Amino acid sequence: MNFHEYQAKQLFADYGIAVPAGRVARSPEEAVEAAKSIPGDLWVVKAQIHAGGRGKAGGVKLAKTYDEVREYAKGMLGTKMATYQTAGVELPIDSVLISEGTDIAKELYLSVLVDRSTQSVTFIASSEGGMDIEQVAAETPEKIQTLNVNYIQGLQAYQCRDLGFALGLNAKQVGQLSKIMLGLFKLFHEKDLALVELNPLAILTDGSLAVLDGKVDSDDNAAYRHPDLVAMRDIRQEDETEVAASQHDLNYVTMDGNIGCMVNGAGLAMATMDVIQLEGGSPANFLDVGGGATKERVTEAFKLILSSDDVKAIFVNIFGGIVRCDMIAEGIIAAVKEVDVKVPVVVRLEGTNVDAGKELLKNSGLAITPADDINDGARKAVAAAKAA
Ligand code: GDP
Ligand code: MG
Repeated sequence: MNFHEYQAKQLFADYGIAVPAGRVARSPEEAVEAAKSIPGDLWVVKAQIHAGGRGKAGGVKLAKTYDEVREYAKGMLGTKMATYQTAGVELPIDSVLISEGTDIAKELYLSVLVDRSTQSVTFIASSEGGMDIEQVAAETPEKIQTLNVNYIQGLQAYQCRDLGFALGLNAKQVGQLSKIMLGLFKLFHEKDLALVELNPLAILTDGSLAVLDGKVDSDDNAAYRHPDLVAMRDIRQEDETEVAASQHDLNYVTMDGNIGCMVNGAGLAMATMDVIQLEGGSPANFLDVGGGATKERVTEAFKLILSSDDVKAIFVNIFGGIVRCDMIAEGIIAAVKEVDVKVPVVVRLEGTNVDAGKELLKNSGLAITPADDINDGARKAVAAAKAA
């Protein structure tokens, strides 16, 4: 689950990490009120969306007067914003963060994530942070520092100091960095996070470090033990179909192809997507209806797939181990009757009660193309999508 910058900064503050004064606002008037509560004569108006890259898309503006604060907030609120990180999707700007403006001398990068290859929580840092960090990573990887934390020992103060000096910080800044890193590590661990990113972690002109941007992503598998985090969820920033899927316990990811896939088991779903690509097609989604799929869930899954106009053909690929093929067939029939299906449906059933399942489909009077195996099914689905 992703969080807004203002929520991320609140989490940082909860863990003793200093953040610039800031307040979230949902109207231009609230934005001005927020600015009035923050002393100084420079404010940053920041669009709150679940994506970075806002600076380059006009979502981060420096205001010198209350009128400018109002004007920038008005220009952002109620609009939608796509950045290079949103893959073409426009996210709604329902709120803006009004933040204390600072004078930046240099922008650093600092993040915490789980590095699967070393099986450790890992800090990644660079002295060349800011809006072009992706370019730094691609062109000058030697400017990126990595620190693996031993799970048993935890983050040690000397490791923070090592990293600070490697980033070229002075002794005072190293002390500040250590406090930030120890706080982030505790936050990461206690809240079961998947990613924390500070970009920029800025060196201000007075020499102090300041957390100017914060991105937090938490591990959904641990959501059940963090009701406080779940309460911060903003589903308006999420893919509508994926939200609907999660309400029915379906594993669904929207993709950009045109063949809708309904598969049971994540492994088979991945294989199905691969075989579709192999046959020259492209999947519109990843969908795992699960091992214990019920007729109702299959119906919901079918409706989800059909909710997208991009879907030109549907490939149902079921291996009935725990789930029964006849029950899947009933689900398909119910769904096709309930929703007006205008696209070809290719079905491959295999496993428990397969004959009963095929019989049901055959006698349903619906235009369903049967397939012998996964390759045959993919081939037929790709051909059907191309013909559409
Ligand atoms: P992002 O583009 O979505 O990652 O948004 P950021 O919060 O990182 O802001 C983008 C850029 O705006 C930063 O890299 C900074 O250069 C600039 N910026 C953000 N906050 C301040 C600030 O307080 N003062 C100044 N001068 N620039 C800022
Ligand atoms: Mg940033």
